Amino acid sequence: MKVLVIGANGKVGRHVARTLQESDHEPVAMVRDTDQVPWFEEQGIKTVLGNLESNFEEAFYGIDGVIFAAGSGPHTGPDKTIIIDQEGAIKSIELAEQFGVSRFIMLSSMNADKPEQYPAMKHYLFAKHRADDYLRKSRLNYTIIRPGGLTNEEGTGKVRLEESIPEGGTIPRADVAKVLVYLLSVPRAEFKSFDLIRGTDELGEVLAY
Ligand code: NAP
Repeated sequence: MKVLVIGANGKVGRHVARTLQESDHEPVAMVRDTDQVPWFEEQGIKTVLGNLESNFEEAFYGIDGVIFAAGSGPHTGPDKTIIIDQEGAIKSIELAEQFGVSRFIMLSSMNADKPEQYPAMKHYLFAKHRADDYLRKSRLNYTIIRPGGLTNEEGTGKVRLEESIPEGGTIPRADVAKVLVYLLSVPRAEFKSFDLIRGTDELGEVLAY
């Protein structure tokens, strides 16, 4: 599958691009700056320039699958969270529908299914919630992943992926990337949403039976 990675230059996005490159899939890394291109080209990963704040339609030419891993980050104001995490994601879903994309994996956030319970993170979780909801109501074959706190530790390939993990937890970014890529071709994950933290289940066995 030719897979567009939106937010490819991010900390999770780079892991996603590399994991796809090592798999049977073909990554296309969407980046917003030419300075970001060499890191991908050095690894033989194709890139396409695109900014979620402008027209990025061309990035979808010939694309079969999308992994959305972009986000405005914690250092921008609520306006950017709405523009990127919510509207950028919604525009990506619309373009995926328009271009007949067959699989869409959304990197969301733990608690995006219950934003009203976290007033301190309200704008962020509501933005994620709106984007997730839009995806659920779309025509796309989707999976939504809501990880707990992201760390930069080495990946273990062992995870806990369940419809709800109320106690929360953390997970290395490398493992989140592996999960996002793995689920592209797991039928039991289609049209479903999951919480994700580190765990004891071997990734290759998750949702396999
Ligand atoms: P990150 O390193 O900040 O990556 C976000 C990516 O989004 C960056 O590559 C950034 O591009 C890109 N982006 C921002 N605005 C864009 C725009 N206008 N057009 C195109 N791309 C744009 O974040 P991360 O650590 O990989 O995490 C990914 C996402 O996981 C977060 O955004 C968040 O939504 C979600 N999440 C985070 C946590 C956590 O604990 N931090 C927990 C659960 C979920 P540049 O490289 O050009 O800046």
